[in-house]
Amino acid sequence: MDTRLLINGEFADGTETPEAILNPRTGETILALPEASMDQVDAAVAGARDALAGWSRTTPAERSAALLRIADRIEQEGEAFGRLEALNCGKPVNAAIGDEIPAIVDTYRYFAGAVRNMHGPVAGEYLEGFTSMIRRDPVGVVASVAPWNYPLMMMAWKLAPALAGGNTVVFKPSEQTPLTALKFAHILAEELPKGVVNIITGRGETVGNALVTHKGVDMISLTGDVATGKKMLQAASKTVKRTHLELGGKAPVIVFDDADIGEVVEGLRAFGYYNAGQDCTAACRIYASKKNYDNLVADLTSAVSGIVFDNADDSLNEMGPLISSRQRDRVASFVERARELNHIEITTGGSVQGSRGYYYAPTVVAGALQNDEIVQREVFGPVVSVTPFDDVDQAVAWANDSDYGLASSVWTKDIGRAMATAARLRYGATWINTHFMLTNEMPHGGLKSSGYGKDMSMYALEDYTVARHVMIKH
Ligand code: NAD
Repeated sequence: MDTRLLINGEFADGTETPEAILNPRTGETILALPEASMDQVDAAVAGARDALAGWSRTTPAERSAALLRIADRIEQEGEAFGRLEALNCGKPVNAAIGDEIPAIVDTYRYFAGAVRNMHGPVAGEYLEGFTSMIRRDPVGVVASVAPWNYPLMMMAWKLAPALAGGNTVVFKPSEQTPLTALKFAHILAEELPKGVVNIITGRGETVGNALVTHKGVDMISLTGDVATGKKMLQAASKTVKRTHLELGGKAPVIVFDDADIGEVVEGLRAFGYYNAGQDCTAACRIYASKKNYDNLVADLTSAVSGIVFDNADDSLNEMGPLISSRQRDRVASFVERARELNHIEITTGGSVQGSRGYYYAPTVVAGALQNDEIVQREVFGPVVSVTPFDDVDQAVAWANDSDYGLASSVWTKDIGRAMATAARLRYGATWINTHFMLTNEMPHGGLKSSGYGKDMSMYALEDYTVARHVMIKH
């Protein structure tokens, strides 16, 4: 495949150290990809700056039309994109094609509509003899830096609102998963004026750092680790860049005594292990009322032990391997440290699987206590902990006792209790009797160390635009 970078409308190979792009199912190298040079980073930012004057002056209708064309092109090539994403990430092909591609296409279509429907305060004479109005203008050149868990989807969440808002972008995919971004570069080059989107690849500490510290960049948008987010804030402080941070998560799931245990187990089996648990909203930290704790652990253990993940027939697989040997070993070490605690029982899973690739068995950690590492830290793998609670106050206190604040859920038949509990949770999203469901009309983003950038929805369009005041003397 063509793996050239897209810089100011031209395709060029990176000129620096090659990075091996691995197939997580086998550990084999798919290809070696040279990273961008510092000159190429400069050229990409310069291209985005030059393109800004023209793109920022296009009408919402023109930008909307471009986004709709991009959506159609991804849809037409959906199967090829899904297969490539599955190859690079180890996802089941059916999940990549059937779940992710339609959601990605919808993101571009949503923002194509949203930008033509931006609302704001009415113009008015707030001082006598003067009329004031609000404009929403682009922030400028956005440096977008993405993670490896949903490469093309994170790219959509970043590009669609930025482009709709009239910004230009230099995009850096994760050094582990650049392949779909590089394929997508050809569509972007054909559907957008040159320089509006530039795609460069490379490691975070080299290419990423050069990009986010660049004086030609006005805004940094990162989806990634909390530690990386802190580095972005330091980088941004030098020239006071705007930041949009979507960081990790450790989603609490509160299961009350009247919850439908069958539905809870079905939900946890799906929403705790999807994408091998490499999801910042994964339902991974379960608090079960003491009354149904034993039943829940037994039923969950049995359901999770049936998850299909390394079948030779990929159409049967419900999840795949982890992204890398490093990530697999990290997950394994969390479980090993938990296993050493006397109060913990690993009721299923808890082991590396297979002789090749980066597989880890879907795992349930029962009897975890609030202060245990497995409850407090993001594992980012197919591992769910279960902790019994006494009453609602304890469950809410424990759920909120986390550095993270991205997603949460409450399971009960009592709608009053569900609403009262949701109101007390300090998370960007709270689902009731479900988990994990996202829609482009609604915001996705966190509180606390999970960051504060909003993806999807009108709130993302606000994040990628600046409110400006224009006043007219009569
Ligand atoms: P990461 O932070 O290691 O890397 C993310 C991106 O940042 C990569 O492109 C990387 O190259 C780049 N990067 C790293 N150091 C950099 C630096 N110093 N300067 C510039 N760029 C740098 O994260 P990851 O391991 O790719 O992804 C997993 C993490 O992402 C998890 O913590 C997960 O929770 C989080 N995540 C959050 C969301 C969300 O919506 N909140 C979604 C997906 C993933």
